[in-house]
Amino acid sequence: MFDKAGETVSRGAQDGAAKLLVGIDIGGTKVAVATAEIGGRIVAKRKMPTEVEKGPQYTIQKIIALVRQVLDDSGAARPIAVGVGCGGPLDPDEGVILSPPNLPGWDAIPLRQILEDEFRTYVYIDNDANAAALGEYRFGAGVEASNLVYITVSTGIGGGIIVNGRLLQGIRASAGEIGHQTILRDGVRCKCGNRGCLEALASGTAIARRAREALASRPNGRMMAIAGGDLQKVTTETVVQAVREGDSVALEIWNETIEYLSIGVANVITTLAPDMVVIGGGVTEAGDLLYAPLRQAVGKRVFLVPLDRVKIVSPKLGTDVGVVGAIAVALQHLEGKG
Ligand SMILES: [Zn+2]
Repeated sequence: MFDKAGETVSRGAQDGAAKLLVGIDIGGTKVAVATAEIGGRIVAKRKMPTEVEKGPQYTIQKIIALVRQVLDDSGAARPIAVGVGCGGPLDPDEGVILSPPNLPGWDAIPLRQILEDEFRTYVYIDNDANAAALGEYRFGAGVEASNLVYITVSTGIGGGIIVNGRLLQGIRASAGEIGHQTILRDGVRCKCGNRGCLEALASGTAIARRAREALASRPNGRMMAIAGGDLQKVTTETVVQAVREGDSVALEIWNETIEYLSIGVANVITTLAPDMVVIGGGVTEAGDLLYAPLRQAVGKRVFLVPLDRVKIVSPKLGTDVGVVGAIAVALQHLEGKG
């Protein structure tokens, strides 16, 4: 280890540059890297493809080079800390990546140690949903909230829970897996091993699957036309577009999605009574088709929590959520909050 307080502060002063943090967002298809001020303002930002097929050593070396580039872009030699958001599972205490499904081959990769050795500064790692929760809490939709739940509805469904300003980690950092609560007792098998998980019913992948199943027996309608007659090209976007065009099968699929999501969100609100539930991810691009009906459906399932005091909102960080979240991970640790 090394002396954080002495070494990095004096080095920062030598650079004559502002104290900067580095955020690294590692996804299955792309990596984003940014420098930011302590207040969260991004100074420089770069992206690259993950090229996961080339293996972790290759990608990590490219990440290191990209971090050096953004540090150059920002006129800083070394950051005061580095935060990393990455697909789970991972061990945030040890800083080790544990075989995430979106990063095949990243098995027991000691990423924190590798980056600490490289940059001679503190490195903190958390899963991407927790990082996004911290980012929205600190710099986005949740700046006024103290208890916040972040849910991302995308290819899968992830979540992060902040209680009294702190990320809830739970045993082996396994808390906040909102997508894997059981919604249907005998529902479809989820990749986690359980049946009827929210993710297996209402993720983008699940919406497309349910649409294809419905189309197998009722192929006439807007969805098949939008997909050019190819069942395999039916996606969540197809369903949303067909709903807007008044297609009845698409509307059934969508209403079912809202129903499943409302059960999941209502369970979370009844359990935690948060100030705010931030719902993001690709599926929320449906916008008005999602938020207003979801709020209404949640209202039918929550009785003990005063729902007029729970905001159900869209995220504010947009495409920067990954890197800003990673920066928030670093900040929370630097401040001793996590
Ligand atoms: Zn599951």
